[in-house]
Amino acid sequence: MSQKIFELSLAELRQQLAAWQQPAYRAAQLWSGLYSDLRTNFEEFSVLPRGLRTQLAATYDIDCLQMKVERESKDGHTRKWLFGLAGGGEVETVLMGYDERMTVCISTQAGCAMGCVFCATGQMGLLRNLTAGEIVAQVLWAARSLKAVGGRLTNVVVMGMGEPFHNYEATLAALDRLQDPAGFGIGVRRITVSTVGLPHMIRRFAQEGRHEKLAVSLHAATDELRNRLVPINKRYPLAELIDACREYVRGGNRRLSMEWALIDGKNDSAEQAQLLVELVQGLGCHVNLIPLNPTGGYAGLRTGREAADRFKSVLDTGGVACTIRVRRGIDIGAGCGQLRTKAAGGKAQPQLASI
Ligand code: SAH
Ligand code: SF4
Repeated sequence: MSQKIFELSLAELRQQLAAWQQPAYRAAQLWSGLYSDLRTNFEEFSVLPRGLRTQLAATYDIDCLQMKVERESKDGHTRKWLFGLAGGGEVETVLMGYDERMTVCISTQAGCAMGCVFCATGQMGLLRNLTAGEIVAQVLWAARSLKAVGGRLTNVVVMGMGEPFHNYEATLAALDRLQDPAGFGIGVRRITVSTVGLPHMIRRFAQEGRHEKLAVSLHAATDELRNRLVPINKRYPLAELIDACREYVRGGNRRLSMEWALIDGKNDSAEQAQLLVELVQGLGCHVNLIPLNPTGGYAGLRTGREAADRFKSVLDTGGVACTIRVRRGIDIGAGCGQLRTKAAGGKAQPQLASI
């Protein structure tokens, strides 16, 4: 059975080509063909000798994702794919374009073990971790689809299915690979990693000197409420989480944001907003307020405009920068885990569908 070429680092590719008695520069040519020219077929590598192309094709697959569903939102700004994985399981990738930015939202796990009650992915449980190659391949897929229409991917957000810090090695290996200037070459400031808030992993991220932007999914400002919405909070309470966030920002020149899904009557009171102001004192973080995307497994509803504005005004008065963001692509189930859930229900279209 063929191996997946995106599972190999540059060092591993070099080793393979050296073992085939190829000159050292062939690895660089292969690397830039895969990651910079975004090739999908070894036959397209015209710089490589025919014999080597044949050997590569006999040994490696470029594809490691099987596209099952593709959808585009009515306004044309969001495109979403559901991919099948080797050995079963599915993940979603979403491409969003507004203004001059083209952002891909990628998954790191099939399902998730964290069990946040309002999250479609959490409601599935964890099937398995994605490999570094499967994570990289989602970004390249989106980049290729943009290239086909003369566009260019500008940003990556790790906010799809799964908890990136529960699959730390593969996620960070993928992000390192994507930053290689001799390959895909995306800048570190154009990458955001969103975590449910595992304090020991935030510390590790800080200690390893990472400079990707970090988003922490807070959703509640008291342990009592957060325990109910984000069950992992019972193991890692807020004080510990905020401590780890302080360590991260102390590292200097790092950007932290907090995510807050606004749920009607649950976490959208002025009192929670005031407690949030106090909790994030001195962190210099930005708060993203996202009205809940309703999911089948949770009865909560999204906060209305008025209550969202009231919540925001408490943060404004408290000097905490914040933005109310409407999740784009809601009509194609672009909320985390929702396309997968729909496909399982048999409602998804097999081909690109404007709905
Ligand atoms: N596991 C990571 C990243 C994936 S979830 C994390 O939790 O941060 C990405 C973001 O979507 C998180 O902020 C998460 O809380 C939020 N989210 C999940 N389900 C949602 C929903 N139904 N409505 C709004 N936001 C949701
Ligand atoms: Fe997992 Fe994030 Fe969903 Fe929580 S919100 S269940 S951590 S994917």
